[in-house]
Amino acid sequence: MSEHMDVKIDWDRCMGSGNCVFWAPGTFDLSEDGHAVVTDVGATDEDRLRIAAEGCPVGAISLWRDGREVALNEKEE
Ligand code: SF4
Repeated sequence: MSEHMDVKIDWDRCMGSGNCVFWAPGTFDLSEDGHAVVTDVGATDEDRLRIAAEGCPVGAISLWRDGREVALNEKEE
């Protein structure tokens, strides 16, 4: 599981698409103001957290382990 991981959401980027909630409903939820929030990191295994983070259309989700950011397969130009 992924209890040792940390998930951060950049609220300046998040536009409330809900993709992360679709991929990892136990870990993400949408707040009333339309931002994604992290409810329980340990509810989703790491592979699925990755899919959720990589699937964010605006790259607002970052994964961290032991204080270091986990590299994602994002399209970087
Ligand atoms: S997928 Fe990204 S933009 Fe969409 S709600 Fe989640 S964090 Fe926000």
